[in-house]
Amino acid sequence: MAQLIDGKRISAEIKDEVKARVSAMKAEGKSVCLAVILVGEDPASKVYVGNKKKACEYTGIESLSYELPAETTEEELLGLIHKLNADDKVNGILVQFPLPIHIDAKKVINAISPLKDVDGFHPVNTGAMLNGDAGFLPCTPAGIIELLKRSDVDIEGKECVVIGRSNIVGKPMSVLLLRENGTVTITHSRTKDLKEVCKRADILVAAIGRPKFINSEYIKEGAVVIDVGIHRMENGKLCGDVDFDDVEPHVSAISPVPGGVGPMTIAMLMKNCADSAEM
Ligand code: NAP
Repeated sequence: MAQLIDGKRISAEIKDEVKARVSAMKAEGKSVCLAVILVGEDPASKVYVGNKKKACEYTGIESLSYELPAETTEEELLGLIHKLNADDKVNGILVQFPLPIHIDAKKVINAISPLKDVDGFHPVNTGAMLNGDAGFLPCTPAGIIELLKRSDVDIEGKECVVIGRSNIVGKPMSVLLLRENGTVTITHSRTKDLKEVCKRADILVAAIGRPKFINSEYIKEGAVVIDVGIHRMENGKLCGDVDFDDVEPHVSAISPVPGGVGPMTIAMLMKNCADSAEM
């Protein structure tokens, strides 16, 4: 049977480490504070923001909540970000995406101070990541590296295939695997013969955004599979981009959905907040 890559356990471990660091900072009179901005009423975004606030409570990070109406203008949102950039008490600023269509997401990302960009989306931080310099790493791919390392999966010298090239998952995932000395292939919707490329992978990361797309025909026997996708099925249950039941008998390790990558994203956000306060 394949090893289950347990994001619940590993994310709990990381949150406990953050909690201890925050408590040590508090003992020295330093606080850690995350400002969370939500624009509009998107129900999924509300759930994500709620989970981030809960994680802040658990780790001892203070959270400031800004729940703005959907009609908020771009100017108003940028004004709030500038105010939070200048507030010494605030260590991290998180804007929940997606934003209403009248707001330019790129402008918003660029407005957040790179020193408070705990989502790791600002070009200064993505540039630092590419160059191997210090900076905030995007939470989902950084969480996947932690999942692999803490599950004793060696990345060095391995054939790594990433399915997807989005700015928040696929591209940074590829860079981080490369930084760990993996041999990395990035695939996308124009890739020819995706199955054959995926079958080369010792480590396969699926961030394709299509429920149960990856079945055993894409898998090399004994590979390690990380499933980034999250989808709600008609029966109300969650599933990933990987057809778990079909793939699991063929792999040496696999992350489940739920309980794999999902909880790691928030844990790494908490870690970035603690890093920011310590900087
Ligand atoms: P995205 O922006 O929609 O990107 C999907 C990528 O998959 C694109 O690069 C696309 O290629 C590629 N793709 C689509 N169909 C393909 C096909 N048939 N063959 C090969 N490649 C194909 O999605 P995302 O934001 O990266 O998210 C991916 C998944 O991860 C989603 O299910 C999302 O909900 C989930 N997610 C989870 C977390 C978490 O915390 N667990 C965080 C973020 C995202 P093109 O570039 O050519 O269009």
